[in-house]
Amino acid sequence: MTTRRPPAAASQRIAISGGTRIAAVFGDPVAHSLSPAIHNAAYAALAMDRVYLACHVTLERLPEALRAIPALDLLGVNLTVPHKQAALEVVSRLSAEARLLGAANCIVNRRGVLYGDNTDARGLEQALLEIGIALAGRLAIVIGAGGAAAAAIVAAARLRARRIVIVNRTLARAETLAKRFAPASRSSLIEAAGLDALRDTELMADAALLMNATPLGLKTARFVPLDYRATPRDCLFYDLVYAPRVTPFLKPAAKLGRPSVDGATMLLHQGALAFRLFNSVPAPIEVMRRALMEQLGRPPQPRRPARAR
Ligand code: NAP
Repeated sequence: MTTRRPPAAASQRIAISGGTRIAAVFGDPVAHSLSPAIHNAAYAALAMDRVYLACHVTLERLPEALRAIPALDLLGVNLTVPHKQAALEVVSRLSAEARLLGAANCIVNRRGVLYGDNTDARGLEQALLEIGIALAGRLAIVIGAGGAAAAAIVAAARLRARRIVIVNRTLARAETLAKRFAPASRSSLIEAAGLDALRDTELMADAALLMNATPLGLKTARFVPLDYRATPRDCLFYDLVYAPRVTPFLKPAAKLGRPSVDGATMLLHQGALAFRLFNSVPAPIEVMRRALMEQLGRPPQPRRPARAR
C-alpha cells in the first residue's frame, strides 16, 4: 500500500505555529501510510492548529516511543501491524474493544495517561453499513485468522450475522479465533474451517458476505480457489486489502456482477473514528474521503446511503 502522490493540496496549507498540536502514526515501515494525508486534510478543513505525522518506530523501540507521548504532549498515535498487539503491554488503560480484539490501533493521550482503543472493527462495520448490507440472520464468511479477521468477525457479529465461518489456511488458528469470539457474540454462531470450505458449493450458496482478511492480493496476483459461481447474486465481496482496487479476490466476483468493494472504506472509517478520539470533534468524513481517494488516484466517491440494519 504505497503512497502514490505527494501530500494532498489541503494538507500543504497547514501552517505550523508555536501552539501546533501533534498526532501521528507509528509504524515500521510507515512511509507508505495514507493516514497523514487523510488527517491533515481534516485539520485543514476545520482550520485546526494541529498536524498529523508519520514516525518510523521499530518494534524494539515502540515502548519508549509510546512512553514519550505524554512528555511530548502528543494528542495520540495510530499504530500499524505488528505494533497493534505490542502496545497492549505498554498502555495504562484499554477500551473494552481493544481488549476484545487483543490489539490497539489507536493510543490517546488523556491528560498524560495512555488510553488504547481499536477502531478497526467499528470502521469496518461503518464501511459495511455504508454499502447497505443487510446481514441480519445471514451467513458471513471471514477468510483469515489474524488481527484483521478478528475485526471482521466482530463487525459481522454486530451486524447480527446468524452464522460466521472463519476460513483459514491454518485450521488451528481459525479454531482459536472461533473459541475466543464465541462467548462474546450473542446472536452469531461462530465456526472454523480450512480453505477447502471456499469450494463447498452448499456453504457458498448460503453466503451473504465474504470478507478477505488476509494479505493475499497485496503482493500476490492470485487468490485461493473459491467457488464464486455458487454464491447468491447479492453476496457482497469485501476485501480488506485496498490496493490494487480490483484485487485478485474481487476480480472474479465483479466479473459475475456480484457487489464487490475494497478496503479503502474501512481505512477511511477507522481513521475518522481515530480523528474523533484524538480531537474530540466529529471527523469531516467527506473531506477525509476526498483526500484518501486523491491519494489512491481514484475519482471522488460520494457516500452511499446506509440501509437499515
Ligand atoms: P496477519 O495477522 O498477518 O494475518 C494473515 C492471515 O492471512 C493469516 O490468517 C494467514 O494464514 C493468512 N495468509 C497469509 N498468507 C496466506 C497465503 N499465502 N495463503 C493463505 N492464507 C494466507 O494480517 P492482518 O493484520 O490480519 O491483516 C490482513 C490484511 O488486512 C492485510 O493485508 C492488511 O493490510 C489488511 N487490513 C486492512 C485494513 C483496512 O483498513 N482496510 C485494516 C487492517 C488490516 P495462516 O494463519 O495460515 O498463516
